[in-house]
Amino acid sequence: MNIIFLGPPGAGKGTQSKRLEARYGIAQISTGDMLRAEVKAGSEIGQEAKTLMDAGKLVPDSMIVSMLEKRIQQPDCAKGFILDGFPRTVGQAEALDEVLARLKSQIDVVLVLQVDEDALADRIAGRFSCAKCGASYNDVSKPTKVPDTCDVCGSHDFVRRADDNRETVASRLASYRKETMPLLPYYEKKVKVAFIDGMAPIEDVSSQIDTIMQEVEQITQK
Ligand code: AMP
Repeated sequence: MNIIFLGPPGAGKGTQSKRLEARYGIAQISTGDMLRAEVKAGSEIGQEAKTLMDAGKLVPDSMIVSMLEKRIQQPDCAKGFILDGFPRTVGQAEALDEVLARLKSQIDVVLVLQVDEDALADRIAGRFSCAKCGASYNDVSKPTKVPDTCDVCGSHDFVRRADDNRETVASRLASYRKETMPLLPYYEKKVKVAFIDGMAPIEDVSSQIDTIMQEVEQITQK
């Protein structure tokens, strides 16, 4: 099962992809996480990407496509993958189609998380995650149960993304509108595209997704 998750920054793609990963045993692939790992490692790609990421701009298609092509051929993608944050441009989607055709694979569904743009800046500014296990939290909507202690691994070490601030949100949203929204008509011509109300509580969003996934599973098993 190969899934693409679309939605503006802060829509909840990461949270829902991690859940799908656990439920279906397929790999969550976040190109943002991959780039942040490159930045942390101080690699050439990381150095080039950092300035663009900090400014809320997209990195060049060529950089991201070759990274992604290698990633989806890793053993943990054998049962499928969830693309979280890729593709973000029509050029990336076309490149992905070429790669998948070569691998004799395809996308089964595109999930689109729809959210009220006014809510995004608050959501993004409140995001933080555990530095040890990566569990994600939000100051307002999902604080840790015990202050300063990760619910999952008990660590007291938390991180906030450098680009999760109100200044870059506007530019990240502008990129989403201009570069990523054209992917909706692109995919609607090819594959099932399902819209989800991302303003609902996390559990409700998850059950909307489960209903869609049951429909997709029935279609792909036929
Ligand atoms: P994300 O974690 O998905 O919000 O991505 C963080 C940042 O990484 C974005 O604002 C971009 O600068 C960069 N990035 C992640 N994925 C892509 C992509 N598919 N194409 C271009 N830039 C990307």
